[in-house]
Amino acid sequence: MKDNDPAKLIAIVEDDPDIAKIIEQMLGDFGFRTHWCRSGADLLRRLRTLAPDLCIIDLGLPDMDGIEAMQRVRAQSACGILILTGRAHVSDRVMGLELGADDYMLKPFEPRELVARVRSILRRRENAAHSSAERIAEFAGWQFNLGNNTLTSPAGSEQVLSTSESELLKVFVSNPNRILQREQLMGTRDLSPTDRSIDVRISRLRRKLEPDADSPAFIKTVYGAGYLFLATVTWVAAPAGAL
Ligand code: CA
Repeated sequence: MKDNDPAKLIAIVEDDPDIAKIIEQMLGDFGFRTHWCRSGADLLRRLRTLAPDLCIIDLGLPDMDGIEAMQRVRAQSACGILILTGRAHVSDRVMGLELGADDYMLKPFEPRELVARVRSILRRRENAAHSSAERIAEFAGWQFNLGNNTLTSPAGSEQVLSTSESELLKVFVSNPNRILQREQLMGTRDLSPTDRSIDVRISRLRRKLEPDADSPAFIKTVYGAGYLFLATVTWVAAPAGAL
């Protein structure tokens, strides 16, 4: 299995040992390394030393809300994030995606499906890294480094985008001033986002990019057609070692 080589490390944040064991076993069977954290604090304490490729985060944690744990991970790391939730509320899932998760799964889940989602997120991350290393897109004073998913504002403040946000912005900066249909924005590989999750990603990106998200200057909605990225984009090579 080429995409598991070298073995990717998956951190599992889950307070239920039985569920954690099932996940560890299944991921192990597919060639992943795993590390089980019993709490959000446990993960955050080890995040830098572990440097996981992806975190699976249970939303119902004993010590903190999983959403908060996720946000704190996202603030420190560009790793993939898969949310696991027993909550049936759509708002939690949407909020998770808005705040930077790459995907979510509802409990109870089919372990093989979980592995498929994990592999899909990791594959997207690798494809993004390979095809876009050392490239920076500049538009209206903004800089988007496709090699490390970093977005820098005209004022110089940096933020790391999630994998899904980066993919979306990459499609936009690669195709400026063109109407893009939802299907084009979803990417070509085994993604299964609904129309709704694209809208969630768009609004998330707008909040990071647009001074006034209610009246967006860059990402325009073209009703009945899709979206359009309105900007002049120039490309520069990233400085050596910037990755
Ligand atoms: Ca739990």
